Amino acid sequence: HAILGIETSCDETAAAVVDGDRRILSNVVLSQLDDHRVYGGVVPEIAARAHLDHLDAIVARAMQEAGLGFADLAGVAATAGPGLIGGVLVGATLAKAIASAHGKPFLAVNHLEGHALTARLTDGIDFPYLLLLVSGGHCQLLLVQGVGRYRRLGTTIDDAVGEAFDKTAKLLGLGYPGGPAVERAAASGDASKVELPRPMVGKPGCDFSFSGLKTAVRRRVEEAGDGLDAGGIANIAAAFQKAVAASLVDRTRRAVDLLEAEGLAGRPLVVAGGVAANGTIRAALAALAQDRGMRFVAPPLVLCGDNGAMIAWAGQERLALGLIDGMDFRPRPRWPLDPDAAPSIGAGR
Ligand code: ATP
Ligand code: MG
Ligand code: FE
Repeated sequence: HAILGIETSCDETAAAVVDGDRRILSNVVLSQLDDHRVYGGVVPEIAARAHLDHLDAIVARAMQEAGLGFADLAGVAATAGPGLIGGVLVGATLAKAIASAHGKPFLAVNHLEGHALTARLTDGIDFPYLLLLVSGGHCQLLLVQGVGRYRRLGTTIDDAVGEAFDKTAKLLGLGYPGGPAVERAAASGDASKVELPRPMVGKPGCDFSFSGLKTAVRRRVEEAGDGLDAGGIANIAAAFQKAVAASLVDRTRRAVDLLEAEGLAGRPLVVAGGVAANGTIRAALAALAQDRGMRFVAPPLVLCGDNGAMIAWAGQERLALGLIDGMDFRPRPRWPLDPDAAPSIGAGR
């Protein structure tokens, strides 16, 4: 009962095969980093073209590594949004073509649901659970009640958290992509040497804000001027990372309070998305979970960033519920997990 999953919503061209027993039979990720680096960020037209150039070969490799042919599949899943629409169209169109040529169900997956359900693929946890989704375009706290059933408890009022890492890296001259670069620099820095605000800490509600922190980083960089050496950069990176972790933990703690008040104490705490790869953030959330008697689940690093396995798994979950999509499904550049909510502001990028 294997499903092929295709992911092309940003700058990873990815395909994977996952079976119904949560086994990842293959997981191929081609990063387009080198295509975009000179521009300091993802260029949508270049991304779409690169997906078109490489996707066939990536899918063929994923199938070969899984040891399967298309005829063996139980379904074909692809990210159908949200994301850069050119790339999404490339992936979803190929998935539809394979599905219709081989008479298989097509599964249109919400990219965010891929991130959100990864913890069920890796750890088999049950609903409901509290999810902190921290990625390049999003920063949200969600109660995950089931497949397609999400209640948003908080979101960013300005930048997404991955975006904040990327912009801070740029300010510090650390290059692109910013998250791993900031984490690497921070490892040798002393956070106590630089004073930065702790965004939203102590404020009511579960929303996030990162633009003020980014502005504070810019000010520190300007103050230091030409005197900013590698040590100074490391200190700012460490202070930034610490402030982000403190903010995420404070907001998440409030969400835990909220759920406890509703009789949902002790449900798992899950972190997902590209920023979930960050060691300082993982450790801070693990400590919170332990403090509150919650199981903490963070994906292995290869499943934090964008990948096909999470899309294949979301396809498994949807197929199991009979949620098959028609060939007329139109990819959606905006597609919030909770239908009542306005799109996350940070999703614009
Ligand atoms: P979305 O999932 O919201 O549509 P996306 O798919 O572009 O956005 P992801 O691929 O899930 O985002 O995550 C990419 C983001 O994760 C980038 O902003 C990157 O800087 C950040 N990131 C990656 N590794 C780390 C790290 N170790 N520490 C902090 N941030 C990181
Ligand atoms: Mg990416
Ligand atoms: Fe993502």
